[in-house]
Amino acid sequence: MKNQLSTFETSPEGLSKSEVIRRQEKYGLNKINEEKPTPLIILFLSQFVDILIALLIIAAIASMIIGDFIDAGVILLAVLLNTIIGFIQEYRSRNAVSNLKDLIVKKAIVRRENEIQEINASELTIGDIVILEEGSKSPADLVLIESKDLNCDESFLTGESEAILKEIGDDIYMESNVISGHGIGIVKNIGMKTEIGKIAEIIQEKEEATPLEIRVGKLGKILSAIAIIVCIIIFALELLQGVGLVETFMTAVSLAVAAIPEGLPAVLTLTLALGMTEMASSNAIVKRLLSVETLGSCTIICSDKTGTLTENKMSVVEEYLLNKDKTLLISKLCNNATIKGDKLIGNQTDGAILNFAEGYESSLERIDEIPLNSNRKMMTTIHRLDSENKIILSKGAPEIILDKCKYIDNDGNIEIINAKTKENILNKINEMSEKALRVIGFAYKFDDGAKAEENLIFTGLVGLIDPPKQNAKKAVNDCINAGIAVKMITGDHEKTASAIAKNLGILTEKGRVITGHELEKLTDEEYLSSVEDIQVYARVKPAQKMRIVETLKSLGNIVAMTGDGVNDAPALKKASIGVAMGNGTDVSKESADMILQDNDFSTIVKAIKEGRKIYDNIKRFVKFQVSTNVGAILTIVGTSLLNLPLPFNPAQLLWLNIVMDGPPAQTLGMEGAEKDTMKRPPETGDILTKGTLLQIFILGLVMAIGTTIIFSWEIYNGATTKKAMTIAFTLFVVYQLLNALNGKANSDKSSKYVYLGVLGSFILQLLIIYLPQLQVIFRTTAIDITEWVIIAIVASTILVAQKIMNKVIK
Ligand code: ADP
Ligand code: MG
Repeated sequence: MKNQLSTFETSPEGLSKSEVIRRQEKYGLNKINEEKPTPLIILFLSQFVDILIALLIIAAIASMIIGDFIDAGVILLAVLLNTIIGFIQEYRSRNAVSNLKDLIVKKAIVRRENEIQEINASELTIGDIVILEEGSKSPADLVLIESKDLNCDESFLTGESEAILKEIGDDIYMESNVISGHGIGIVKNIGMKTEIGKIAEIIQEKEEATPLEIRVGKLGKILSAIAIIVCIIIFALELLQGVGLVETFMTAVSLAVAAIPEGLPAVLTLTLALGMTEMASSNAIVKRLLSVETLGSCTIICSDKTGTLTENKMSVVEEYLLNKDKTLLISKLCNNATIKGDKLIGNQTDGAILNFAEGYESSLERIDEIPLNSNRKMMTTIHRLDSENKIILSKGAPEIILDKCKYIDNDGNIEIINAKTKENILNKINEMSEKALRVIGFAYKFDDGAKAEENLIFTGLVGLIDPPKQNAKKAVNDCINAGIAVKMITGDHEKTASAIAKNLGILTEKGRVITGHELEKLTDEEYLSSVEDIQVYARVKPAQKMRIVETLKSLGNIVAMTGDGVNDAPALKKASIGVAMGNGTDVSKESADMILQDNDFSTIVKAIKEGRKIYDNIKRFVKFQVSTNVGAILTIVGTSLLNLPLPFNPAQLLWLNIVMDGPPAQTLGMEGAEKDTMKRPPETGDILTKGTLLQIFILGLVMAIGTTIIFSWEIYNGATTKKAMTIAFTLFVVYQLLNALNGKANSDKSSKYVYLGVLGSFILQLLIIYLPQLQVIFRTTAIDITEWVIIAIVASTILVAQKIMNKVIK
């Protein structure tokens, strides 16, 4: 160890401030170089790499060659608008996602200038003394100078999933997970010089497409295929009728642009990314786009008690002491908390017990420790009394401590525990627990050479209060209204857990409470048949969370599960939405989909509300955009079947496409939450349900029938093609605008953006019809008041259709 310290020119007290600065200048920061973001110009140019855009550019060149500069200009303008919209969307999504990444800062615990400090892992330098605890992730390559049963998972490097015991002198690689034990290491290598830095590519995860993106992508492909077939047929028909090649080509391409929902994936990603940003501002950091949509469909939340539903600010409020002096001794020494002024370092239970022992002095040297963990629910320390004798001190869950006791210490009289004393103590435990107190039992013995934790002498109990969080009760109630079941999972005593669960409304009349021990004995069938009724899990071990998640999921539930320790990681991974705590271990945060910065249950509920809002908004614009695509295709098919000329020209089709991908669609994605968002049961994750697809088809059909009838009627009554086309085109645009209103939310927030989008598009439509310069470009002509009345009446059928469908189709 001396050797290692001198190799890295450091000391057990750590580096000095000035030395840290000197070394940071010399070695740089402890960062793995991330992939450089694509330069903006490349991002912009990449928007042009698209078949539709390429076809449009070819069409523009072709019309220039035949001298049709107006059409060429229109097409190029459409290309530019499309690429700008695409670029802005992609840029905003990228920014939103990378800002979120910056919120997840890696921390490291170091000793510098003989003081323990928490710093950003990027500020570590060679020679720093790093403290590793259960659940932490090694922030650099270290060499161990102290180890207490330190077990590490290095599977990311070796593929070996078995935890490896690390001893003094061993290397710990950056990103290794500490599975158990603790240790101290000297930083040996940082940043790109670390083992993981050398193979940096493998840790750069790619963002996977969410199921929704995949499904929407599929729908897009199906529509595109249909659109392409229709376009080819139209192309052939027009050619056969002797229309010029260039004109036919332009028509076919513009039609394809209007009929293919090419803008959809980008809006989708952007909406999800902005949703993540919004959630982060209310303290829920969602790590994957995937979870945003899953959150909205969550059906069950399994929540930890301590710190999530309760304040985790504990204090001793009751005591039952058989030997006060001995209990205070155990409180003081079998304790890993320290209190510096008002600040507590260490766990809250230890802190409260240390406060309880305030004023009591003892300085027996600690020579060993059997640490606390969530499986054992007790801890033991061993101290030297004099050169020959040692004393063993234990505290923990009272019934577990009592099980290991053979005697009680009645103010100095050591007596064997008989059935009666045992019953007395158990009654006392129940009594305190029923008042929602966390009860801790105390015991000791003088070292007798036998196992440390047996034949102990019981000295007393204390009861700690941990008040429920202020807003937890309301959040639980919100969940119940929203059809989301809440289950409490805790390591605490059955009675304590039940009392708090009752208080919060989690445990109801017909609900059941089960202990980890009882759960263990249930067969899978027995458990499955009662799982829905179980509302509180007490004295559970983290490994059992896995079984809980699996069983609930097997019934088709979407399960959110909270956790903070290393042992929670598998269950967090397994859960539909793994939720880690901001103050939890690195390992739990890594396995989770969402991190609660404020460790607060009500934040999960806020995130679910946000998820439901996003889900609704996505449904709005998908429905809006796709029904327009369907409408455009069906209109073209209909007019062709009736042997009529095409109702829209290329410029008009391109304008339709911009109305569709532009303001109305974008603003539909920004609507507020529906008034009943948290008053209705969760929906299945599927946005494109059969009902929705049917609605989309019917909306498209209504547009197509109306447009085809009005167009043919105008032609039949001798209107010029130009006039008939202007009316059909305007009707189709008004259909879109009213269909956007169909999609708006019934929300407390006003839909002003949707109204503005619709109004703006309508004004532009008026300009296109009445402004002479634009009339030339779009080949339109003014329409009169009677024609407007007809348009208004026919277009309003889309509102009626939606109203009827709201009643009939679910
Ligand atoms: P929770 O699941 O509510 O977070 P914990 O895992 O923190 O519960 O604690 C479970 C049980 O372990 C407690 O009910 C208590 O009996 C015991 N325990 C917790 N902290 C300590 C401690 N510092 N010392 C001894 N026993 C403890
Ligand atoms: Mg805990």
